[in-house]
Amino acid sequence: MRMAWADLETPKARQCDGQTVELIGFPVAGDGETRSRHFLLTAEAPCCPGCAPSAITASVEVLSADPLPMRAGVLRLSGIWHSGPEAFRLTQARAIEPPGWKAATRRNVLTGGPLICLAACAAATDPAANAERGKAAIEAGRSIDLHSHAGGIANVARITSGEGFSSVAVPMRAGGMAVACLAIVSDGPTHKVQPDGRIRPFRESGAGELYRYGTLAFERLHALLRREGLPVVSDRASLQAARAGAPAVIVSAEGADFLEGDIARVDEAYTRWSLRHLQLTHYRVNELGDIQTEPPVHGGLTDFGAEVIRRCNRLGIVVDIAHGTIDLVKRAATVSTTPLILSHTSLASNPSRYSRRITVEHARIVAATGGVIGIWPPASEFPTLSSLAAGMARAVDAAGIDHVGLGSDIRGLTGLSVFPDYYQLPGLADALFGVGFAQPEVVKLLGGNYARVLEACLRY
Ligand SMILES: [Zn+2]
Ligand SMILES: [Zn+2]
Repeated sequence: MRMAWADLETPKARQCDGQTVELIGFPVAGDGETRSRHFLLTAEAPCCPGCAPSAITASVEVLSADPLPMRAGVLRLSGIWHSGPEAFRLTQARAIEPPGWKAATRRNVLTGGPLICLAACAAATDPAANAERGKAAIEAGRSIDLHSHAGGIANVARITSGEGFSSVAVPMRAGGMAVACLAIVSDGPTHKVQPDGRIRPFRESGAGELYRYGTLAFERLHALLRREGLPVVSDRASLQAARAGAPAVIVSAEGADFLEGDIARVDEAYTRWSLRHLQLTHYRVNELGDIQTEPPVHGGLTDFGAEVIRRCNRLGIVVDIAHGTIDLVKRAATVSTTPLILSHTSLASNPSRYSRRITVEHARIVAATGGVIGIWPPASEFPTLSSLAAGMARAVDAAGIDHVGLGSDIRGLTGLSVFPDYYQLPGLADALFGVGFAQPEVVKLLGGNYARVLEACLRY
């Protein structure tokens, strides 16, 4: 039986006593331990080694017969469930190999991709050297996250209630992330997670509703940036000024639903909110085109969608076609005079119906515009930072080294993430060396490629 972290706050946690359950989480062991038989598993990645949450619903004590790896990122465990008065416990625990785990090992990647060389493999076996190289790559380049809701800025309840957001600047500085595309979600009020796990719209929007909500979300995002002292990237100079330790933000929108079909609102968002990155569609089939998660109704990009792309091209706004159908992407590629971004997804050989993942063909259409595909970090798909790095390597094999980036979707993924905050960045940089990339390639993947596209889009 699968146990979700949310279940720990429900009667299910007690009802499962003595049963075999599966649980995914982050291991926290004592200082310096690389393998352990007795440790805590936590819902969120610890902010530093040995740091565990205090809430009993946020951690589970694990006892296993064999020592389990403590530095592999996410662990997926099976064991016997116990609910005590002060703690939950998993005994006789063992690690389960998730599907795709084997395909994601370095050895398989090393033998499977043309870009990998054996010299890199030899270097990658020294973890200390990797750690140094990871940090050096972050400092040598300008890391950019193509898609993020860090701070909780996509949360409808927080936006509408005026509740505060969590810090964005602190983890960005600590992890060395120089720039984050922080996206408001203007169709947020009209979709939710369905019982089958799909995110779908559940009602129509009222006239003017998504424009008003989008305005509020932009206002609140800017208030957060002022509070945090985070500068906004609006031109090439402000992009150049951002670096590890001195982060900045690109104001983005996931879904152009706030336009409500009014092209003048693109100009308004550019001027009033410094919008520089616009994702055309999200979970609602809007005026711009079809989405991957609903049956197509427009046959791809609409004429209004094409008009929005041309306006973005003219103003200097990056066009993001994440969530769009392949037909939308095909037409967008013929309309846009600047490279396209597909900010958060991963490659699949045969994506299921309504999947957000994409085929190699889909990725190559984006790459052919000179654009970039951001690879995302759901733990269900990439249980460790090494497997995320391997996923990026597979995207590089499909689309080329100049066309892949990171799209964390922080605070936007419904399940566990292997990259839940910016503290993970040095670990990901290390992991990219671990799958055989050299520093100039790591610099491109972690932000250089996106910076090239943004500079091509900006007018000044
Ligand atoms: Zn999304
Ligand atoms: Zn998102």
